[in-house]
Amino acid sequence: MRFIVALFVCTVAGVSVAAAAEVCPGNPDALGTSRVLTINPGEFTRLGTVQYKQTLPLKDHEVVLTFDDGPLPPYSDIILDALASQCVKATYFLVGQMAHAYPSIVRRIYNEGHTIGTHSQHHPHAFELLSMQRVEREVDVGINSVTAALGDANALSPFFRLPGFGRTNAIERFLENKQLVTWSADVDTNDWWRGSTPGAIVKRAMRRLDAKGRGIILMHDIHRATAMALPILLRELKANGYHVVHVTAAGERPKSLPELMALPTTDGRVSLTVQTSDSSDSSVTRQSHRIRKRSESRHHAVHSYYPGGLSDDRMSAFGQ
Ligand SMILES: [Zn+2]
Repeated sequence: MRFIVALFVCTVAGVSVAAAAEVCPGNPDALGTSRVLTINPGEFTRLGTVQYKQTLPLKDHEVVLTFDDGPLPPYSDIILDALASQCVKATYFLVGQMAHAYPSIVRRIYNEGHTIGTHSQHHPHAFELLSMQRVEREVDVGINSVTAALGDANALSPFFRLPGFGRTNAIERFLENKQLVTWSADVDTNDWWRGSTPGAIVKRAMRRLDAKGRGIILMHDIHRATAMALPILLRELKANGYHVVHVTAAGERPKSLPELMALPTTDGRVSLTVQTSDSSDSSVTRQSHRIRKRSESRHHAVHSYYPGGLSDDRMSAFGQ
């Protein structure tokens, strides 16, 4: 009997902890995350009415926020700050070479509770025109790069978004055979359009969302305008009665990942090493990512991985 009473008390304590966690610290008016939708990758192959018939089983006025192409400082960090201040969880589709360059941000995204999928290694132009050999390499190396940045394969969700939505039947079959869920979108904000102001992005997003009433919203965490638009968009979502749903893939994931600690080296580089509570603990695998110290040239190099023609290319990929 005592055992039963103790169990009951524990359950009550567990419920109260869960309820407390739903309150957004320091922001009683936060938009928040209304529910978690866990999907079984076996049940869903392709999602998003921009390209497909099937999408997520969302109720009226439910949205899922997604961010592509990052990480890239400082915009990814500003966006993470905005999401955290509203206790909103999103889904990220990271580019492999960006994850390789900024593994600390990849881990921040994960440790702040967001879902991480991938978006190829180099975000090549006209994905749908590549040879299948190249497509397969882009997908596989992208997954490897993001996994290396996370340091734990279980932290990555089997979610993939096609660069520029560049689809073919063969590409989709390949992704399906790898048991990856291909994410398109329901509401494209076109936040990457040249000259888009934060106000224009929000207006476009809300207009398209209101027309559909629910859905997966596509944004990019590599643009200044998007970083500036997000706090306004989150306010608009709340004011218009929308609820944010956090999508996760079924399966065990680590609770959190060790943060990377920057260590200067003698050759002017920065070595990022896993921070452990006890550095003498030999049971902890220490991983290191060596990246060049951020400099103007490096920063530009990362930016320039999208040569100027991307917008036009994407325009044609979207038929716009
Ligand atoms: Zn992209």
